Formats: sequence, structure tokens, C-alpha cells
Amino acid sequence: MPDCDCDRPQADMLSVESARERLLAGARVVGDIQGVPLVEGHGRVLAEALVSAVDVPPHDNSAMDGYAVHSADLGAEAEVRQPVVQTISAGAVGAALAAGCAARIFTGAPIPPGADAVVMQERCRVDGDGVIIRGPVRAGAHIRRAAEDIAVGQTILAPGRRLRAQELGLAASVGCGTLPVYRRPRVAMFFTGDELVEPGTTPRPGQIYDSNRYTLAGLLDGLGCEVVDLGVVADTLEATRATLQAAALEADMVVSTGGVSVGEKDYVRLALTELGKLDLWRIRVKPGKPLAFGRVGETPFIGLPGNPVSMFATFCLFVAPFLKRMSGIEQVLSRPQRVAAGFEWPQAGGRREFLRARLAHGENGAVEAEIHPHQGSGVLTSTVWADGFVEVPEGTVVKHGDRVDYHPFEGLL
Ligand code: AMP
Ligand code: MG
Repeated sequence: MPDCDCDRPQADMLSVESARERLLAGARVVGDIQGVPLVEGHGRVLAEALVSAVDVPPHDNSAMDGYAVHSADLGAEAEVRQPVVQTISAGAVGAALAAGCAARIFTGAPIPPGADAVVMQERCRVDGDGVIIRGPVRAGAHIRRAAEDIAVGQTILAPGRRLRAQELGLAASVGCGTLPVYRRPRVAMFFTGDELVEPGTTPRPGQIYDSNRYTLAGLLDGLGCEVVDLGVVADTLEATRATLQAAALEADMVVSTGGVSVGEKDYVRLALTELGKLDLWRIRVKPGKPLAFGRVGETPFIGLPGNPVSMFATFCLFVAPFLKRMSGIEQVLSRPQRVAAGFEWPQAGGRREFLRARLAHGENGAVEAEIHPHQGSGVLTSTVWADGFVEVPEGTVVKHGDRVDYHPFEGLL
């Protein structure tokens, strides 16, 4: 079953939603939880809620470089001179401040007992061992209150989310040195096709470079998976069977590209039928109609189309949510953006189209989605040109200016 351009909808074809639903029903979270040091936490998925054991900030502190004062001393008067009796830097602790006195204070330094406001230094003039302050001063001015960001006992991070730089910073700000995260899923990948050769070698006539290997490795790595790369498998039943067995033993999931089709010499299908089970799904989606889903023993298997663009699209739409679920991520589907179409799509298709697209500024300066001129499933340049997909539902034409759903790759991956 080639990923042909015939758009006739057929009764036995699955919608994108139902295929995804069926697929996700078979996804199990890799349950093991491990503690990782904060520095290794980037990109990992938090497995337990993080509750703060401290207040942030831990104490009232100055938001400015300036002078801590008693606000009542300054009243409404235009200028008041006060002696400067102490200097408090960030990291130090000041003594109680007597009425009528000022303390030199720097950003982040604790407010000394007695003081109730900070005057920024731009409103002050040094005068010998004192300071002339321009009033009036409001009680509480330029003070960051203890616990104004986070209070003891507050849940600061929910489980099931991937840790970005911001989450790591937040965890660090409450003193958390180790994070409970899910183990990374181990994903074994292999590739079928006697025509494939390695980049860096010279292809013989009829051969092409294996690009899926590098696209897939990057996609898996980007999703935080450990990659077990089994390379190109020879086109024999023995080799395919041995590869699948080894892959299933070593990995939490197996992904292949190419060759899973009806009616052709297809050892992936044969070997899977022997070692587990396999469903061939025809999905009303373009690119990427055929998708194979099965198990080798208990290990899930997904067979992606060989066409490089179909492979990329099918990964984004089906494999990525599956792997996110396995990784312990709560929210596995992202919401598209509604944007104006900067293109025309005059021919309604029987399959849902995912057009390689990116956002641009239209003639009136407004943001709109433009599509790559070559939407063929072998045109890998379109995936590099694009930043996302425009989704065109079955039976729909698009006119310039119509609202369309745009899925940035970042959200899908
Ligand atoms: P298949 O799904 O095996 O019928 O392959 C469909 C098309 O994708 C054919 O033109 C293959 O040569 C091509 N193809 C399959 N696997 C790869 C790969 N790993 N890298 C680049 N192209 C591939
Ligand atoms: Mg092939």
C-alpha cells in the first residue's frame, strides 16, 4: 500500500483522531522514577509534585539600591536630613534601625527591623555622614515581601510536565537539589530498504542515502528518549526477526521506517505476526496514510512510512503523542493556533492534509500562514523550510484569508 496521492476516502480508513485515540490507549507510562541532580534535569519529566519547604523570598528585602527608613519620619516634607547609621549589603543582616535614622541598603538585602520603606538612591543626596532624602515616602515602598512569590507548603510544579529552563530555575529557587523524574523511554529504531546507503559513502546506481535514520534519531532525542540505533536491516525474514527480538528485549518501544505495506515482500509484517501482533492502519491523513501498530511480545511497535516527509509527519502526529504519554507527560496534544491563510488550497481532498507551512507577514502586515510550493511526500526540503503544519480538514478548500489551524513543530514535538 504505497502512500499514494489517491484521495478517495474509503470506509475502512481511520480519522486522525480515532487513530490517535486507539494508539494512546496502548501507551503505558514508563513507570520507574529516579532522582536526578538539578543540573541533569533539563528535558526530563517530573514524576511527583514539587512542594516548597521555604518561603521565597525568605525575608522582606529591598527592591532597590537606596536607603531604608521609617516612612513616618519623612512625612510630607520636601527634604529631610538623616544620619546613615549602617550599611546592609545583600547577604548581610542589619541591626534594628532607630527612628530618625537611615540605613544604606542594596538590592536584595534584608530590611532591618524598624524600617518600613526604602527610598531609591536617585531621590537621595549624600551629605557627609548623612543623607538628604526627598519626601514623601510611602510605607512599604520598594520592599519585596517575604513569601510574596512562594510560601512554605505551596506546590510549585505539578507532575507530568517536561522541565524547561524556567522549571529548573524555580526548583533551584526553593533549594531543591534533586528532582524525581521518570526514566527516559528507550526506543529502538531500525530501517528497511535495500536501496539505502550511509551518508559519507558513494551510492551505487539505484541507491539513495538513508535520511530517515538521522531525522528519527533527532526526533527521538528531542523528545527525551534514549535511542538504540539498529541501522538498516537486511531484507530477509531471519534478519528482520532477529532485529525485532533484540530491539524488544532492549527497548521500551520499537520504531521502524519503510516497507510495512500490503501485498509487497514485507518481512517486518511477517516477523511481527510471528513474534507478536500487528495491525495495519490506513489513516485519512496526508502525508502518511499507512501506519503499522503492533507489539513484539509486550513491547509496542510502530512502523512508519518510508517516504521521508510522510515519516516526519506521521511521527509528529502519532508517535510523538505516544512517546510523550510513555514519558509520563500529562498534556500530550498541543492546541493549534488559528491564523489567516496566506495561500489558496482549491482542491478539496478526501484525506486530512498536513501542509508544510510557516508564519509570515502578509501584504497588510498581518501574520498569515504560507505553505511550501512542493507538498510531495518525498520533498524533504519542505520540512526544513517550514516551522509547522497547516491542517486542512477532509473535503475542505481554503481561500486566501480563511482561518486555518497551524501546528508549530515545537508544540507537536
Ligand atoms: P517504502 O515505505 O519502503 O515503500 O518507501 C517509500 C519511499 O521512501 C521509497 O522511495 C524509499 O526509497 C524511501 N525511503 C524508505 N526508507 C528511507 C530512508 N530510510 N531514507 C530515505 N528514504 C527512504
Ligand atoms: Mg522500502
